[in-house]
Formats: sequence, C-alpha cells, structure tokens
Amino acid sequence: MQVIRTVFREDHEMLRETARRFFERECMPHQEAWNRAGRVDRDTWRKAGREGLLCVTVPSEYGGGGGDFGHSAVILEELFKAGVSGPGFSLHSDIIAPYIVRLGTEAQKQAWLPAVCAGEAILAIAMTEPGGGSDLKAIRTTAVRDGNDYIINGSKTFISNGLNADMVIVACKTDPTAGARGVSLIMVEASREGFRRGRKLEKVGQPAADTAELFFDNVRVPVTNLLGEENKGFSYLMQELAQERLLIAAYCAAKTERLLEQTIQYVKERRAFGQTVWDFQNTKFKLADVQAQVVAMRTMVDYYIGEHLRRRLTVQEAAIAKLYTTETMWKCLDDMVQLHGGYGYMLEYPIARAFTDMRIARVAGGASEVMREIIARSL
Ligand SMILES: Cc1cc2nc3c(=O)[nH]c(=O)nc-3n(C[C@H](O)[C@H](O)[C@H](O)COP(=O)(O)OP(=O)(O)OC[C@H]3O[C@@H](n4cnc5c(N)ncnc54)[C@H](O)[C@@H]3O)c2cc1C
Repeated sequence: MQVIRTVFREDHEMLRETARRFFERECMPHQEAWNRAGRVDRDTWRKAGREGLLCVTVPSEYGGGGGDFGHSAVILEELFKAGVSGPGFSLHSDIIAPYIVRLGTEAQKQAWLPAVCAGEAILAIAMTEPGGGSDLKAIRTTAVRDGNDYIINGSKTFISNGLNADMVIVACKTDPTAGARGVSLIMVEASREGFRRGRKLEKVGQPAADTAELFFDNVRVPVTNLLGEENKGFSYLMQELAQERLLIAAYCAAKTERLLEQTIQYVKERRAFGQTVWDFQNTKFKLADVQAQVVAMRTMVDYYIGEHLRRRLTVQEAAIAKLYTTETMWKCLDDMVQLHGGYGYMLEYPIARAFTDMRIARVAGGASEVMREIIARSL
C-alpha cells in the first residue's frame, strides 16, 4: 500500500528517474571501492555535475538547475533508496551552495557557483568543534580582523566532505564576547596557508563519506571572503538548518519504505520451523507496524515539503519532521534487523548496512534532544 504522492510535479518525477539511473549506473558498482578508499572519487562528482544532479536549485545563470526544493528532495530520496552512501552531493548542493546563493556577493557567486555546479569544486561547512556541536554559539574558532584580512585560528571536527573540499564555509567568532551575536561565516579556500586537514575519521557507518578534522593555524583570508554580514552567522545557520532537517526527514522516510520492501521479500523467502518467517504472526504484526509508520512519515514529510515549496516551513516544523522521522526510522530499522536474524548483522545485507549508516540521523543536523528543545519553545 503506497501513499499517493501529490507534492511532486512531472518535472520532479523526470529528474527522479535520471537520478535513479545515475545512482544505479555510476554509484552502486563503485560502492565497495569507495568504502575501502573512505571517499568518493572526484570523477563521480564531475559526472553528477554533467548529469545536472548537483545544485539543482542554484539559478541557471550560475550553472545550476534553476529548480526548487522538490528537485533536491527527489535526488536525495533516490540516493538513499539505492543504498548508495558516501557522495556528499546533497550537503554540497542543497545545504552549502544555498548559503552562497542567498548571502554571497555577485563576485562570490561568480567565483564559486559555476565550478560548484559542475562538480569541479567541492564544498564543506564547518560548524562543529571538538568542544561541542549542539551549542553552536559556544564555538571557539576565531576570526580576527587585521587590515583587509581576517586571521582564523581554531579547529573543527566531524566535517563532511572535509577531505575532498576545495572551499569550506567556516563558522567563526568575530566577537567572542557576544555569544550567538558574535558568529560569522567565512569562506576559506583549501589552498590557504595554515589550513590543514586532519585524519579521516573512522565512523561506525557510511565508510565512503569522507568526514575529517580541519585545523586553522593563522589562516589569512581577505574580508571579501565574509558571507553575508559580520556577526549574523548564527541566524543564517538557524535559517538554513531548517532545510537540512527536512532533507534528513525526507531520506529517512524513503529509506524506511525501501527497507520495508526488502524485509518483506526476505521474510517471505526465509524458512524456520517448517514455515516462512512471514508466516509467524509476530512478523506480520511487526511489519504492519512498520507500514503504518511509513505512511505516517510519508504523509508528514510530503506535507512539509509542500509547505517548504510555498516558503512557509518554520524552524519548529522542520524540527518536528526531523525528530519524528529519525526516531521512527530507527525503531522500525531495529525491528527489521531482528526479523533478518543473524543476516541482519551481516554487512552484505542492505538492512545491516542501513543499521550502521542511518544511526547518525538522530544526531547530525541537530540531535533529537535539541529538536525537542526547539519544538517545546513554541508550545
Ligand atoms: C558523520 C557526521 C557528519 C557530520 N557532518 C558535519 C558537518 O559537515 N559539519 C558540521 O559542522 N558538523 C557535522 N557533524 C557534527 C554534528 O552536527 C554534531 O555531531 C551534532 O550537532 C552534535 O554535536 P556533538 O557531537 O558535539 O554532541 P554534543 O553537543 O556534545 O551533544 C551530545 C549529546 O548531548 C545531548 N544534548 C546536547 N544538547 C542538548 C540539549 N540542549 N538538551 C538535551 N540534551 C542535549 C544530546 O543527547 C546529544 O546527542 C557531523 C557529525 C557526524 C557524526
């Protein structure tokens, strides 16, 4: 039983088909090699750029697709449904490039967006520090004004696309006495002297996603690298994080739906005690629960995608979407692992890979507890 989706137009569905074929052809065959290498090769980024799968919402005059959030959502859903993990395309295209589109000067847009849309230049965003990620106003990396430059000192951790990135948007303190009102976003090219990448971090899941520590040791950048206005970085982050959270919700719903299909197939084939695992009433009840939750997730996500397309999604609603889908996905996933028995623990099975890859959804982009704080503020 599928929910009939009315939020997407025909052009969204056409892009979905292109994305599905691309992930099948250009990504799935390389997954194991990427897992071993711990990163996705640059050639795949360029191919994605050529297929029009990067930066679909960036205006076409800068080389983007000139589309809307619906285009971003269908690509990400297909990535997760294909079981592909590693390419940080959505982070690059739907989370970081929008900062440049929204806040960048014409010169900054011209300098970066064409290469970013083509997959020639890869983006990262560095907010989290070893000392903490949830409390963003407490970051300690500083950017001190020196003539026409900023001098940046500090370190960041858990940075996705950190190894591949050509440019990093760095959240810095430009006024360390002002808390949330002292944060600025500064673009740092990876070629700058004093910028150093640390080790590739060994994660529980998503082995092909490059996640790294970054160090800034007296990195000098011109003030023209400031994004938007000085000391307004915290509010920029809060606004853009809503879209990131809705994207996480969208892929959690899509992934759970796909895992349910795979689990039904598995239990209908697997036999125990002279019958299939499906024949146990417990299995049917568990999967009926998953189905009900898939419908609830799908309905909620599509409603909020519609609201976002109408530019009405609030920070609280994005937090509701992320909290509900990530927590529900995780509960469903655990039940489906259980129905696979020992095979649910073997990485060659999609359910086991999902078990390691998806756990982070309850933390990254803001932990569930932080989502509850945000929601509670509006009660
Ligand atoms: C794979 C991966 C990729 C990531 N990519 C990026 C990236 O590209 N860029 C980036 O900047 N960051 C990135 N992060 C960082 C991520 O956003 C942070 O891990 C997350 O925000 C939580 O911060 P923290 O890990 O410092 O946990 P902490 O802030 O130390 O929080 C630990 C726990 O404390 C609890 N807690 C925290 N605050 C509250 C509260 N207010 N109320 C109740 N309980 C609370 C929660 O249970 C939380 O999980 C990534 C992380 C991972 C693991």
